[in-house]
This record gives sequence, C-alpha cells and structure tokens, in this order.
Amino acid sequence: MDFLDNAIDKAREIFDVASKKTTEVVTTQKQKFDVSSIENKRSKDFQKLGEIYYEQIKDTQIENEEIKILVEEIAIKNQKIDELNEEINNAKNKRICPVCSASIDKNSVFCSFCGAKLDIDGE
Ligand SMILES: [Zn+2]
Repeated sequence: MDFLDNAIDKAREIFDVASKKTTEVVTTQKQKFDVSSIENKRSKDFQKLGEIYYEQIKDTQIENEEIKILVEEIAIKNQKIDELNEEINNAKNKRICPVCSASIDKNSVFCSFCGAKLDIDGE
C-alpha cells in the first residue's frame, strides 16, 4: 500500500510540476509580449523627444560630435526627401513623347527633343 501511495504522490508531483511549467510558459509569453509592447511605445516617445530636441538645436552651434553628425544626417535626408518630392511633382506635369520616348512637358505642342507634333490632350 505504501508503494502505491508513494507512486500516486510521485505522479501527482510530476503532474503539478508540468502544470506549473505550462503556466510559467504562458505567463512568460504574455510578459514578453508586454515588454515588446512597452518598448514600442517607448521608441515612439524617444522619436517624439528627438523631433522636439532637433527643432530646438538644428540651427544652433552644436558641441557634441555625436549629436552634430545626427543633425547633419537628418539635414541630408530632408534634402533627399525634398528632391524626390519635387521629382514626383514634376513627373505629374510630364508626358512621354510617343515618338522618341523623351520626358517632356504635359502641355507641349511639339516634342522639345525630336520635334514631333503632339496631340494636346496627350493621346
Ligand atoms: Zn520626341
């Protein structure tokens, strides 16, 4: 009888440990999710803080070399974004010459590259 009781106790012990482990895994997964969710929100706070700080210092004399490089990098990227946006806007006012495939003004009567006469509506 002792042997059977011991076996049942042992089985219960193993079951409890397994059950506890499952609970721990679920809890850990939820905690990991919570951590990454909070990290994402914190990243947005850092970004917002950076934007506010950038606006305050961008036109000032910057002593810190690391900050100076980042401000320069942002200026380069801003310029690139402006250039690309301008290209996009220009592209809206362009058409392709059906004869020579050059990019020309949308309202051109003649192609400025090959001289072909163009339909005004772009057909
Ligand atoms: Zn042409």
